[in-house]
Amino acid sequence: MIIDFLFPNRCLDCNQLIDKEEVVCELCMDKIRFSDHHFFESNALKEKATLQFPVENAFSLMMYEKESLAQKIIHQLKYNHRERVGKILAHWVSERIIFHDKPDLFVTVPLHHKKLKQRGYNQLHLFANALSEYYQIPVSHTLLRRSNHSRAQAKKNQTERLKTKNAYQLTETIRDKHIVLIDDVYTTGNTLSNIAWEILNNSTNVKISILVMAMDV
Ligand SMILES: [Zn+2]
Repeated sequence: MIIDFLFPNRCLDCNQLIDKEEVVCELCMDKIRFSDHHFFESNALKEKATLQFPVENAFSLMMYEKESLAQKIIHQLKYNHRERVGKILAHWVSERIIFHDKPDLFVTVPLHHKKLKQRGYNQLHLFANALSEYYQIPVSHTLLRRSNHSRAQAKKNQTERLKTKNAYQLTETIRDKHIVLIDDVYTTGNTLSNIAWEILNNSTNVKISILVMAMDV
């Protein structure tokens, strides 16, 4: 295609020309700090998350540091070449994780309205859709809804904030399901924790696992 000729695909790190399906060249692949989470029943992410909510399994594809290649890749997903990057990240996940106990549903974290407006799309959708195809597990982008009070909440003090409703709301009740929550970067874990509790408090017999592109180290 002409577009390939005009805008050849380049490695995100070293700028070398690469295949149009890739995001980094083979050499730079070695610079990505992939996690070892798929080798262990318990791992750094599960240990962190368990302190906040009951979690079945936890997996982070990469370890996230400022200026790291993982950060560049996730940034690209948010702002450029999102389709290709989303698919590649999902492919990398599929090469690593095997679900022994197959989950019932992938669920994406809803984006804040402001960001959704700015960007026009939720970068998690492409990633989750590709995962859904790889694993043949359905995906929902609407099980959770972002509540509207975020701005009002910011003005309140901490005690008032704790009293107000969760920033995320479940749109339907669920039962007897193992859900995998999908997010981009795990930092404080507050988002996933709020969501997990919202689901657990309003459902029957639900297990929650988490899968993120990267975790902060
Ligand atoms: Zn490179």
